[in-house]
Amino acid sequence: MNDSPVLFVLPSPAAGHPSADPVRADASAPLLRADDLGVTRGDGIFETINAVDGYPQALEAHLARFERSATMLDLPAPAVDTWRSATLAALDAHPPVPELLLKLVMTRGVEGSGRCSGWVLAFPNSDFSRERTEGIDLITLDRAYPADIMTIAPWLLQGAKTLSYALNMAALRYVRARGADDAIFVSTEGQVLEGPNSTLVAKFDDRLVTPPSDLGILAGTSQGRLFRWAQQRGLSTTYDRLKVDDLESADMLWVCSSGRLVVPVRTLDAKPRTWDADLHAAALAHLRTARD
Ligand code: PLP
Repeated sequence: MNDSPVLFVLPSPAAGHPSADPVRADASAPLLRADDLGVTRGDGIFETINAVDGYPQALEAHLARFERSATMLDLPAPAVDTWRSATLAALDAHPPVPELLLKLVMTRGVEGSGRCSGWVLAFPNSDFSRERTEGIDLITLDRAYPADIMTIAPWLLQGAKTLSYALNMAALRYVRARGADDAIFVSTEGQVLEGPNSTLVAKFDDRLVTPPSDLGILAGTSQGRLFRWAQQRGLSTTYDRLKVDDLESADMLWVCSSGRLVVPVRTLDAKPRTWDADLHAAALAHLRTARD
């Protein structure tokens, strides 16, 4: 069956332990102990990679961010070569589908064991054709932290891709209950941050702008790929702070993420937005086909 998930477990997810090859496991069988800190405290990290037409996009960028997240959480360094082979093994073992998500998860493991838990799960991506062609409705939401969160409160782990996504999911439920598709978080000063699982990019004439990661937001791999495409077309790209009001004068807004690739914003806080359909189609085609 094309949509049965494929699971590979890493007996040695952290570097420094004797290495052991990833092992295929039954994705429908229980995997974790009830006292795994990933479950009891959301204490761990993850990455989601999209393999489009069988090629895992930005694999090295995802692995590098996985390592950065581990450092921020004081987790042992992931055994990157083993994670890479587990990811490729899961991709290889799954029947071909147009888009396959590869989810890498490393938790702090069973309390007191000193051993992390790690696995890679491969499963088909949702169909985002509607969002990719018709655009999405976005609502700004107060993230209720200031722009200098990373320096004043590094323990909040802003900018790490941790398993503690309950609030991100709550934000999505909140906006969906109001008829929108997605949220964009805003700092207490009104600085544009990021979506619950996406990066915002604004286009002003020949310039693409995204908020910088020192605002406590994740450095997006898809936004990075969009920027490289833009540079090849002679557009300029910058990391700049943006206030919500600044977005009014943007001629186009995009939401980027590994799962959706790049989707245009159709409304922002119920105000209609326009976009250049040809430019968007070119950007989407690039994100579908470019390898890194
Ligand atoms: N910001 C957050 C909080 C995310 O969770 C994600 C991805 O899930 C992104 C941004 C976009 O990152 P990427 O393009 O690497 O998927």
